[in-house]
Amino acid sequence: MFSTHIPTDWRRRFGVFSVCVAMVLSLVPARAQLNQSRLPNLGDGAEVPLGVERRLGESIAREIYRDPDYLDDPVLGDYLQSIWQPLLASARQRGELTPELEQQFAWEVTLIRDRSINAFALPGGYLGVHLGLISAVGSGDELASVLAHELSHVTQRHIARMIAQQGRQGPMVMGAMILGMLAASRTANASSFSAANAVMVGGQAAAIQSQLNFSRDMEREADRVGYGVMTEAGYEPQGFVSMFEKLQQAARLNDNGSFPYLRSHPMTTERISDAQARQQLLPKRGAVATTPLHAMMAARAQVLAKPGVDALRSMVAQVQAGTFATSAKAKQAGVLYGATFAELNQRNFAEARQHLSRLQGLAGLDANAQRVVRLLAAELALASGDAAQAVALLENKTMAIAKHDRATRIQLAQSRIATRKPAQGKMAASDLSLWLNDHPRDATVWLVNAAALELQGDALRAIRSQAEARAMELDYGAAVDRFKAAQLLAHQMASEGKLDRAGHMEASIIDARLRELERLRREQALERGIN
Ligand SMILES: [Zn+2]
Repeated sequence: MFSTHIPTDWRRRFGVFSVCVAMVLSLVPARAQLNQSRLPNLGDGAEVPLGVERRLGESIAREIYRDPDYLDDPVLGDYLQSIWQPLLASARQRGELTPELEQQFAWEVTLIRDRSINAFALPGGYLGVHLGLISAVGSGDELASVLAHELSHVTQRHIARMIAQQGRQGPMVMGAMILGMLAASRTANASSFSAANAVMVGGQAAAIQSQLNFSRDMEREADRVGYGVMTEAGYEPQGFVSMFEKLQQAARLNDNGSFPYLRSHPMTTERISDAQARQQLLPKRGAVATTPLHAMMAARAQVLAKPGVDALRSMVAQVQAGTFATSAKAKQAGVLYGATFAELNQRNFAEARQHLSRLQGLAGLDANAQRVVRLLAAELALASGDAAQAVALLENKTMAIAKHDRATRIQLAQSRIATRKPAQGKMAASDLSLWLNDHPRDATVWLVNAAALELQGDALRAIRSQAEARAMELDYGAAVDRFKAAQLLAHQMASEGKLDRAGHMEASIIDARLRELERLRREQALERGIN
């Protein structure tokens, strides 16, 4: 029977997404009927309940978390959050993000390791950004304009309306269709995608896309609402204008390959004239200036997108270019960051250190820019085997890590773990547990926490942390397996008299979580039609 579960050997050969497309095409008609009896009917034009949309989003997010191109880079992640959170606050203030929507949806932005320029909104408040978008925009304001547009597709319930129209096909088929479309937006990767496969998937995706695209009116509304959200969040309206011009330019050149964003959000004449009308109300000004922070984050995104050795070499060569010395400070910061990070990624640590010391010598960087330079220095120290130096760079004995600084927290913990000293493991675990209290859905931090606890010698809590990481990636089967392993260890420790008071408490948490995850796994199996 059809399910979104994909055998691992297929996954290895084709990647999750291409398989999904093939399955959709062979199984849509048959599945459409099978679905009728078991799954909630989304059709009939009725309002799609928030919970149903969220579950559909989860089924898609689960596949994305397992995709090798899903990327949790804490440094870029913090940068994205610094732009995303003000947009959420603005939408809340304006009343578009209602308390009910806020509570029921995920409101998560994930990074996809791909060079093409794309951003997308999925059902249930899951959003995605390709690395190529971050390296292509010239400012945080331009990035904010794209994110605000996507955010508005969710808050205006455009996705819900689209689901309602396609609803007769059943939510799982719908999910697979969306996954297929996302796959087609990726830069074809020779290692996992034969050329023939890529063409086939592209053609099929175009057919699916025409069914799943937002309407022209929805696009105009997302522009209008998004513009309000971003400007009221304090971003420069000029960022919206210049981003729009970039997209328009690419549309004129018919550059669909590197701008998959244009396929899902076409530049219609209505959108263009709306944008021009908005622009006429603005004072005449040039594009928003690139900040050193943005330039460095764009360079990081470029390297993380794995552009190949030649591209990395040409990033490094920019340091030698004659124009370097006279270029703006932001440009210099971006070039030096890119050169350092490119050399680090090729394990040329001596060269990386040279570029880094020039970057550290740049005068006049603000605190946010200095923070990412410090993180880069620690990353280099850790990669070149000097964990103690990485700890020293990040540790601040007099001041706690700033509340939202996830990257420093994670990198400091990883550096402490790399020292292999149990006392450092203990410090890492205690710091991470504070974060997890406020962010219990952070899978990466659960995993780092597991390693810290292992080093500290707390096997029981280490296994539970691994289980929580799997649960937060929505892989309930794997989570149940790890919780069972934790339960077994707790029983064994109890029978040997090794379970102290805290251990008994931990064991009862494990029992309760195991029951909960077993229930979630049963629900997941029902939704997938495996029973
Ligand atoms: Zn759109």
